[in-house]
Amino acid sequence: MLASGSRGNAVLAYSGTRGVLVDCGISARQVRLRIEAAGLAGVRIEAVALTHEHADHTAGVRVLARTLEVPVLATPGTLHAASSTLADVPETAPLRLGDAIRVAGLSLTPFRSSHDAAEPVGFRISFPSGRALGYLSDSGVLTDETLEALAACEVLAVEANHDLEMLERGPYPAFLKARIRSAVGHLSNDDAAAGLAALAHDGLNTVIGLHLSEQNNTPHHALSALGRARERLGIDARVVAASQHEPLVCAV
Ligand SMILES: [Zn+2]
Ligand SMILES: [Zn+2]
Repeated sequence: MLASGSRGNAVLAYSGTRGVLVDCGISARQVRLRIEAAGLAGVRIEAVALTHEHADHTAGVRVLARTLEVPVLATPGTLHAASSTLADVPETAPLRLGDAIRVAGLSLTPFRSSHDAAEPVGFRISFPSGRALGYLSDSGVLTDETLEALAACEVLAVEANHDLEMLERGPYPAFLKARIRSAVGHLSNDDAAAGLAALAHDGLNTVIGLHLSEQNNTPHHALSALGRARERLGIDARVVAASQHEPLVCAV
């Protein structure tokens, strides 16, 4: 997890020296610096896959795709909505919901998320080991379809955007609070904990809270909610929070 939050998102999924970048909402330079800081300078990005067109997921994609000469993969709706950003990238390719694609030795399956964007998705990413990372950022609700797509992943990265009470008492205007809480907004800490309860299984080794709001959440709040769920479930998965500023390296 190179960066996670409303000021930019980027995840490098890799195996050996081959990698795919999921979202590029930080600058191409920051992507490079954070990959180096994570000790992964030897990993080559072979493609960028986008979850949706919002700037915190796409701000750096144009420069990065042009510099590295790699294709950008996204659903037709996202490609269309981001068309001005993607106008002069070397190549774009459409992703279809539920259809796995092979890239950088990994298998990526996009699944529908629930967010106020054109055609947003999360990804299930399968590694050569057979293990999988489930990645869902920016979703207002966890639907049955989402839970099915995220089932039996060894690493679960799920949005834990806000603490409901902090959001309620916080400085955001009412319309923005309503948007965040809506079915096409962002998942709360409690939503992420409910997701963990629905998705827990013996093979689950790590749970990562994503896209923590700097106004309406703290790592402490997010980790407490996920930690309480873990205790109730009696599982011993590691629970961590992805950061806006620091890369987080995680074995799948
Ligand atoms: Zn976002
Ligand atoms: Zn978004």
